[in-house]
This record gives sequence, C-alpha cells and structure tokens, in this order.
Amino acid sequence: MRFAGKVVLVTGGAQGIGLAICQAFAREGARVVMVDIDEEAGQEAAAGGPFQFVKADVAEEDDVRRVVQTVQSQFGRLDVLVNNAGITATGTLGTRPVAEWDRVLAVNLRGPYLMAKYCAPLLVQANPGSIVNIASTRALMSEPHTEPYSASKGGLLALTHSLAVSLGPDVRVNAISPGWIDVSEWKKTTARSKPNLRPEDHRQHPAGRVGTPADIAAACLFLSAPEAGFITGANLVIDGGMTIRMIYVD
Ligand code: NAD
Repeated sequence: MRFAGKVVLVTGGAQGIGLAICQAFAREGARVVMVDIDEEAGQEAAAGGPFQFVKADVAEEDDVRRVVQTVQSQFGRLDVLVNNAGITATGTLGTRPVAEWDRVLAVNLRGPYLMAKYCAPLLVQANPGSIVNIASTRALMSEPHTEPYSASKGGLLALTHSLAVSLGPDVRVNAISPGWIDVSEWKKTTARSKPNLRPEDHRQHPAGRVGTPADIAAACLFLSAPEAGFITGANLVIDGGMTIRMIYVD
C-alpha cells in the first residue's frame, strides 16, 4: 500500500494504458480520479473499480479547471498527476486536414500543459508531488506520415523538462515513452478485441514480446514513489528494446 492516503489523477484513465495505471495506484491504496472524454468507457470502468470518474476533455481549459475544482473540493489534495490521454492522427502529410494537426496537438500537448498548470498548486502542497507524462517512442523516431503525433510527443518531452525545472523541488516531473503496447483487451466492452499479434511481432523486440499496459503502470508507480526522489526531468523509454535495435536492409 505504497500510496495509501494519496490522491492520484489519471487522464484518459477509462481505457487502455490509463486504466491499468488507475488500477495499479488503487491497488497501492490511492484514491484515484479517472478523467476521460468517453462517458461510456468512464462509467463502465468506474463501475468495475474504486475510481471516481469525471468526464472532461483535457484540451478544454474550462473542463480542466472543473476537474481540479472537483479534486480540491472532494479530496482537498493531489499527490500524483498522470497525463496519459492521447490520440493519433490519420492520413498523410498531403491529405490530412490542418484541423487534425490542431486537435492532436491540443489533446496531446495543450492538455498536459493545462493539467499541469491547474494542478500545480495542489501538487506543490503535496510536497513531494509527482507528474508523469505519457509520451511515446515516436517522440524520438518515426514512421512516414505521423507528423502531428510525433511532434506532439516530442513537445511533451520538452514540456516535461521545462515543468521539472519550474516546479522543482516540490514536484518531480518525468516522462515515460512507451513502445508497442497492446491495449486491445483494455477497451470498453463495445470496443474490446482479442490480441491479434504474430510471433514476429514479439520476436522483433529484444525483450521477446510486445508490451502490456501493466508494464507502463509499474513504471508510473516507481516514478511517483519516494525511491525515485532523485529522478526528475527524465524520459524512461519502455519499449522492450525495440528502438535500440539497429536494422540493416539485406
Ligand atoms: P487508448 O485509446 O486505449 O486510451 C486513451 C484514452 O484517452 C481513451 O479512454 C480516450 O477516451 C481518452 N481520451 C482521448 N482524448 C481525450 C481527451 N481529449 N480528454 C480526455 N480523455 C481523452 O490509448 P492507449 O493506447 O492506452 O494510449 C494511452 C497513452 O499512451 C496515449 O498518450 C498514447 O499516445 C500513449 N502511447 C500508447 C502506445 C501504445 O502502443 N498503446 C504507445 C506509445 C504511447
């Protein structure tokens, strides 16, 4: 029960990696506020665990203010913020509407900025508070036509070190860059599917397998715990070694 008595806020917490993070903190005794834009997913997840669901869009300043007011009035404290909500882009550089760039940047980068800005006073009081930003290995390398997503996650790494300097020593701020994490079984019932992974999907990882949401949740606990008290502004790549593997074409 490493987080007994603590209050933890997880954005995008109703499904996928965020849900695993909510469950991990709850298992360690924390009271967990799960923020998500998807009402159906949020209600379903909250029915299955000790979470307080708040529907909100992290890109909207008024929504973020309302979330923080809810935390303040119901719990009077906040110890950990996990900025996990994120979306991807579709299409190609040539065909993608510019509005899609704006939306991806708004959710993936403006969202964590707004959450950090409005949560900061409570996190400073928690002393030590912790922010964990869920970035991506795509902040560091790319497939073709992933500009909005890659740029948003690269920005999130920069936001991480900037916040770490602004909020230290009261609040530590770190990023996790997940690689390939299979979330197919961590969706709301109407969107859930069985994993469809081939042996070569696992084999291409030096660790021998595709990642799971629990791999990322464990790192969130570690980065927010006292044992990580000298770690701030860091980016922890958790990708089974996929991005350190050198590839030559035969
Ligand atoms: P997911 O789509 O399964 O879950 C994301 C959740 O965020 C959903 O419940 C969704 O409703 C919510 N959300 C989306 N927009 C929101 C908004 N504006 N406000 C509030 N909530 C919103 O995604 P996931 O695969 O679990 O990814 C979680 C995070 O991890 C994302 O930031 C993603 O970029 C990052 N990531 C995932 C992977 C992967 O392989 N799954 C790899 C690298 C990084």
